[in-house]
Amino acid sequence: MMEVKCVMCGRKEEITKVHKDYRRLAREKNAVYTCETCRARLRYQAQQAQKTAKPL
Ligand SMILES: [Zn+2]
Repeated sequence: MMEVKCVMCGRKEEITKVHKDYRRLAREKNAVYTCETCRARLRYQAQQAQKTAKPL
């Protein structure tokens, strides 16, 4: 188990070895972690940006 902090909202979470980013976060000291909520928001914003960049 490892405590990580989301760089976007500052929420602290505990992740276990089953988490897909666990190994990367454990290996890299300055690895950036973003929580599910922020990741979903980023994905949404990226989609919106794509839509405005490529109008039909
Ligand atoms: Zn977050």
